[in-house]
Amino acid sequence: MTKKGLLIVISGPSGVGKGSVISRFINDPDLKLSYSVSMTTRSPRAGEKDGVNYYFVTRDQFMQAVKEGKMLEWTEFVGNCYGTPLEGVEKLRNEGRNVLLEIEVNGCKQVKEKCPDALTIFIVPPSTRELEDRIRKRGSEPEEIVQQRLAKAAKELEMTDQYRYVVCNDDIDLAADIIRTIIRHHMEKTF
Ligand code: 5GP
Repeated sequence: MTKKGLLIVISGPSGVGKGSVISRFINDPDLKLSYSVSMTTRSPRAGEKDGVNYYFVTRDQFMQAVKEGKMLEWTEFVGNCYGTPLEGVEKLRNEGRNVLLEIEVNGCKQVKEKCPDALTIFIVPPSTRELEDRIRKRGSEPEEIVQQRLAKAAKELEMTDQYRYVVCNDDIDLAADIIRTIIRHHMEKTF
């Protein structure tokens, strides 16, 4: 019988570099990872592709999916909705794939209620100063949104005790290696 795959949650404030860290190990064949593509009402940033980075939908489409019970979790973040489509997550896990959700703290809370055995990892920046620089360097959002993201980041950084592991992204390769080790360790454990 195929061993059920892990449900892995990775969170961290905007600008912490979650995407860069994850891209270092997501295609590592030993980790058998499948990235869960979220649904969002936010507009695509330059280079983002529908169905790859997110499913970009209208607020009506999003709320319809929520109403129909199609979301594992969802939240509102800085004026937009984000959520994990349920379809696929269970199927992939039953096929032995380890499903990775890159979501924020409210979503993680909902996931833990539904799947208490989820493997939860929070990525922290080396300093809040560095985080601010990284958010600003992205340069794609107005000052008001930048401020909201920074305020949200400060709140999220107070909630790291909800996570099983906290990893500092001081060096992308090192942070990726640490997370790789954590995932491997949990894959070897028998539940
Ligand atoms: P961004 O707009 O920077 O892509 O994402 C904003 C925040 O929403 C990030 O912290 C990201 O991890 C989170 N996020 C992305 N997808 C989801 C999701 O499906 N559910 C939840 N709860 N948060 C998400």
